[in-house]
Amino acid sequence: MSGKISLVGIGPGHHDHMTGRALAAIAEADVVVGYSTYIKLVADLLEGKEVIRKGMTEELDRAVNALECAREGKKVALISSGDAGVYGMAGPTYEVLFQAGWTPESEIAVEVVPGASAINACAALVGAPLTHDFCSISLSDLLTPWPVIARRLDAVAAADFVVALYNPKSGRRTQQIVQAQQLFLRHRRPDTPVAVVKSAYRRRERIEFTTLAHMSECDIGMLTTVLIGNSHTFVQHGLMVTPRGYANKYDLDDGGNTRSGEKPGRSLSTGLLGWMADLRADHAEGASAAALAAQHRLPVDYIEAVLAAPAEEESAAAAPLEEAQE
Ligand code: SAH
Repeated sequence: MSGKISLVGIGPGHHDHMTGRALAAIAEADVVVGYSTYIKLVADLLEGKEVIRKGMTEELDRAVNALECAREGKKVALISSGDAGVYGMAGPTYEVLFQAGWTPESEIAVEVVPGASAINACAALVGAPLTHDFCSISLSDLLTPWPVIARRLDAVAAADFVVALYNPKSGRRTQQIVQAQQLFLRHRRPDTPVAVVKSAYRRRERIEFTTLAHMSECDIGMLTTVLIGNSHTFVQHGLMVTPRGYANKYDLDDGGNTRSGEKPGRSLSTGLLGWMADLRADHAEGASAAALAAQHRLPVDYIEAVLAAPAEEESAAAAPLEEAQE
């Protein structure tokens, strides 16, 4: 009998938010390995199983343990909160496996079972903050140099992403969140909405709405995710909402009619093709590539490449948009 390693994301904490596959993977496991807090969250599913509890910093040990058990022909479930691949055990486990000479063709099967990550869980609790482009950044500098983290914070703050901050603060790491706030305030308004969500879907769940100017004063810890809105995110009736970015296209006050100059089912007039046409027209009227680059905050060589490309056929521009959005 050959062994198996399942990397199981158990979701934010409550069984209602665990997938059927995650429940099945735990049910079929002989051995369950995980950080003690997560073991507690699934305690009722572990009867008759060998359980290996590990501390927070013993990640590689956990992966090595899992491999040893699988080599004995056992089915091992390595559990992570949220999604096992999001700041979780999936990466370190594959690294340990590769180092041991494992390949996907080997005797030992490996499965990653996806789960709802903290970003999904926290977003659902506060409203709909992720309706436009978003990213996550971990403030943990245990394995990542601070300049790397700071550069990412600076870049995404400037690029107006909605951002989820994982690992925002711990007993020993208290200043990272203050630094993140400083970097964000260089690009975003002080009244940008921020939601601080602690222990989503767990017993001590707590949600606090604040603003970028005050976020570092909030009660933030190891079990908190901080969601920072983009420049269009708003809070209404206690719900944090980010518009889909159609504000320029549909007039919500006017029954959702399309604004003048825009067509339903087509890219915006400032979408790629419309924008290229405008760019060419401005260039023809004397605007330099450098001036256009500054105006649109894009690299000059990109503007030059767009201007040098042959203009799209009229028919391509007029073709109906094929992609459908939910
Ligand atoms: N694999 C996990 C993330 C592990 S990193 C996932 O996909 O969610 C640990 C960080 O995740 C915590 O510091 C916190 O920022 C976030 N987190 C995990 N569970 C959470 C929960 N129930 N509520 C709020 N944040 C949570």
